[in-house]
Amino acid sequence: MSAIQGYGVHAAGAELVPLKYDPGNLRPQDVEVSIAACGVCHSDLNLIDNDWGMSQYPFIPGHEIVGTVTALGDAVRHLAVGDRVGVGWQADSCGFCEWCRKGEENLCAQAQPTCVGRHGGYAEAVRVNARFAVRLPEALDSQTAAPLLCAGITVYQPLRSAGVNPSSRVGVIGIGGLGHLALQFARAFGAEVTAFSTSVDKESEALELGAHRFVHSRESKALKAMAGTQDLIVSTINAAQEWSAYVGALRPHGTLCLVGVPPRPVSLEAFPLIAGARCVSGSNIGSPARIAEMLDVAARHNVAARTDAFPMAEANQAISRLRRNNVHYRAVLAN
Ligand code: NAP
Ligand code: ZN
Repeated sequence: MSAIQGYGVHAAGAELVPLKYDPGNLRPQDVEVSIAACGVCHSDLNLIDNDWGMSQYPFIPGHEIVGTVTALGDAVRHLAVGDRVGVGWQADSCGFCEWCRKGEENLCAQAQPTCVGRHGGYAEAVRVNARFAVRLPEALDSQTAAPLLCAGITVYQPLRSAGVNPSSRVGVIGIGGLGHLALQFARAFGAEVTAFSTSVDKESEALELGAHRFVHSRESKALKAMAGTQDLIVSTINAAQEWSAYVGALRPHGTLCLVGVPPRPVSLEAFPLIAGARCVSGSNIGSPARIAEMLDVAARHNVAARTDAFPMAEANQAISRLRRNNVHYRAVLAN
């Protein structure tokens, strides 16, 4: 392929417009993927708006990609033209540091995001280092699997790191793209699952997705009633919050793991952390090996995103729905 056509932004907060770029010669370690579907993650919105000060304009957003390999660099041995693969937030890493060698490429200091300093998945094709294109199990549908590549792995990783099992009590704050997958994975791990949500209309679907209990997080009484009940709470929200209430909801040795990015510093009292040996942590995506494992678990346990589909050309509509917290539960752009 010569030029790649997609939808990109030229300035902070701008609308997406058609954007064509020349990807140059295919590097030996790269693959080109013809895109079937791409999820619209809240991080794309943060990048479009330059909320994190790291956006490089113009750029094509999109990092929840499923597609088919159409070209391989000379050094790529583990994929073939025609393979269906997924690509997430990460497109490359150094390959040599301690973390890359340990198979924790997501912690590499040289990690390259798929749509920062390069063009992502709101397009007909994308190029990445082949180590970050993960083969998709046949049982997975491209559209409902695309969100697994970022939202899915981001919530799977902390459940797996915490060793969640049938004795665990797991809470999920925010039932959006990440959160609705977290409910499904936590249930698949056998945990008792609680959804913490600001949207009362999500209750019945949260229960269907795997929650045993739904807590309306704007009712401080309901939140207080959860004191000392949770082993792990995964926060997927991008808003400020009464964080001490969630620390209070942890059992001794419990962890509040932040994967959503609040706009302001998270301030906490030390005493509740000290008294219960509680922990506050963070987690970012997962390695390619962990992504492959997560996809396999999703295929075997029927974990799939509930999606609102849009043609690629209607990416702006998908973005504006996401801005209004009006997506059930992940917008996916399809070619
Ligand atoms: P999303 O689909 O917009 O879901 C976020 C959810 O947060 C909403 O559905 C809503 O759930 C809740 N929420 C929204 N506004 C709120 C408010 N003012 N107060 C309380 N809750 C509110 O977003 P997403 O794509 O899941 O992404 C969530 C966050 O994860 C973003 O910050 C994103 O950047 C981050 N992220 C991090 C990683 C990582 O590696 N750590 C990877 C991907 C994404 P309810 O309606 O249920 O309240
Ligand atoms: Zn994402």
